[in-house]
Amino acid sequence: MDISRPTPTSSHPPAQTPPQPRSQPASRPRTQARSRPGNLRILQNAVSVAILMATLFVAFPAGALSTGITDRLSLMLTPQPAQDVQVAPTEQTVLRIGIVAGHWGYDSGAVCTDGTTEVEVNLNLATLVQQKLTAFGYKVDLLEEFDSRLQGYQAVLLVSIHNDSCTYINDQATGFKVAASMSSRDPNRASRLTACLRDRYAQATGLPFHPGSITVDMTQYHSFNEIDPVTTAAIIETGFMNLDFAILTREPVRVADGIVAGIICYLNNENVASTPMP
Ligand SMILES: [Zn+2]
Repeated sequence: MDISRPTPTSSHPPAQTPPQPRSQPASRPRTQARSRPGNLRILQNAVSVAILMATLFVAFPAGALSTGITDRLSLMLTPQPAQDVQVAPTEQTVLRIGIVAGHWGYDSGAVCTDGTTEVEVNLNLATLVQQKLTAFGYKVDLLEEFDSRLQGYQAVLLVSIHNDSCTYINDQATGFKVAASMSSRDPNRASRLTACLRDRYAQATGLPFHPGSITVDMTQYHSFNEIDPVTTAAIIETGFMNLDFAILTREPVRVADGIVAGIICYLNNENVASTPMP
């Protein structure tokens, strides 16, 4: 971890471009050019109208027309009935997620005796998380530690991935930590995100939760104050690079799966065992 703020070097405007709504390509059923007997033709027209109506209802699902992120967040956090029909994500319904690869683009973070650096472990995990969430249909930004896009960043959530020291501390220095951004507009959402991450990550990796070493670097993480307050954010230290070195470097897919499962738990409003957050 150990993030100290760099001196500002440039005043880039945030490269924040809100997604432009695309016009809906509602596929229209083709009308037959061939002439048909009268009553058959009437029947065919009725069927065509029915198909067109069905297409329009699929192309404009309820809620997809409201592009405000707050609307989408409240929709997301309202338990939704299971949908029978899978609707292909459109430009308007795709949710944006930010994943910060800790130290990336800034410094190495912790450096182990074999030369392994924290930044390479973080970037590997963050890239796997990005790929998995993208495969699920989300728009995922892979962000540097001090990415200019973090200023006013708007997304359904942001997770920063870090790891703890390579140095042997004691036999208890194993496990992961999660801290939420309490500067987010809705602290309940931040608590839910950390609860989901904590529960699903522990299940996937078998690593213990290690709350004792949550530092100010985590609770006062710089990005928490840079992003838009509408963005729910958390930071996870996925393990200690000493005692957890094996799982972090040889089973990164399992580690990434744990993070992804935590994010999906939050996005889908899945149940989490109610454990008090530190
Ligand atoms: Zn770090």
